[in-house]
Amino acid sequence: MDLGIRGKKAIVCAASKGLGKGCAEALAREGVDLTICARGADALNATAKELQALGVKVTAVACDVTTPEGRAALLAACPAPDILVNNAGGPPPGDFKNFSLDDWRQAVEGNMISPIALIQATVYGMMERGFGRIVNITSASIKNPIPSLELSNGARLGLTGAIAILARKASRNNVTINGILPGPFDTDRLRGTTEKLAKSRGVPIADIEAERKAGVPAGRFGTTHEFGATVAFLCSAHAGFITGQNLCIDGGGYPGPL
Ligand code: NAP
Repeated sequence: MDLGIRGKKAIVCAASKGLGKGCAEALAREGVDLTICARGADALNATAKELQALGVKVTAVACDVTTPEGRAALLAACPAPDILVNNAGGPPPGDFKNFSLDDWRQAVEGNMISPIALIQATVYGMMERGFGRIVNITSASIKNPIPSLELSNGARLGLTGAIAILARKASRNNVTINGILPGPFDTDRLRGTTEKLAKSRGVPIADIEAERKAGVPAGRFGTTHEFGATVAFLCSAHAGFITGQNLCIDGGGYPGPL
């Protein structure tokens, strides 16, 4: 299926690795020109080269998207995107008892305020131009809260509520805003947390991996290719009637029928 977005311009945040990179790859395969960011310049430039090889223009902006300066640099590189994929690293795990108010402020800044700022800066231009697709990468934990990830559960649910009305209003102008809620995907982040858990329990990494996969109805982790393809469809010309939705891609992990 041709997604009908060849020649459009996208900002994909936090895209040198993992889920963000999966989105950038899928959009590049559809002929979308990209502005991507990450903090580490080496991995970012290497990813930009891989994406350019797919035949699209790629601008790499080494920045921290959770800072005003980082977002300003991104928007300077691509002031009028047709597509915006919001993403950043997630807040650290921990125990509610030990979280400081600054931990909460940081989580809200990184995973709620930062995407809201980019949406506010881009959505009205999209509405004027009559096309826009915004996807927020959040987490399956907003539907099914994960113990120890309370900072993430809270900040991401805040973002989801904050844009619910705007997502409906914008759709009149063919601009959609949706959330994608990943369950376990095979990325550096997942591998890192698996390794840490294995160390803390003193068991082989493969045991923790098997345990985690056993908890997923599909019996495996998702791939960044599957993730990117789903996001690219939501960014496609065909998806203008889907807005304000929050789609779990978690191999069946969310137990409810709705
Ligand atoms: P990952 O493999 O560790 O990749 C994270 C990417 O984001 C890297 O390119 C990283 O590059 C970039 N990044 C992180 N913080 C950034 C910042 N402040 N500014 C700019 N770029 C930044 O992680 P992932 O698995 O793709 O996860 C992406 C998001 O999805 C996270 O919020 C995570 O919590 C969430 N999530 C992931 C899963 C999963 O199973 N993988 C499940 C649920 C939710 P630099 O470090 O160089 O900046």
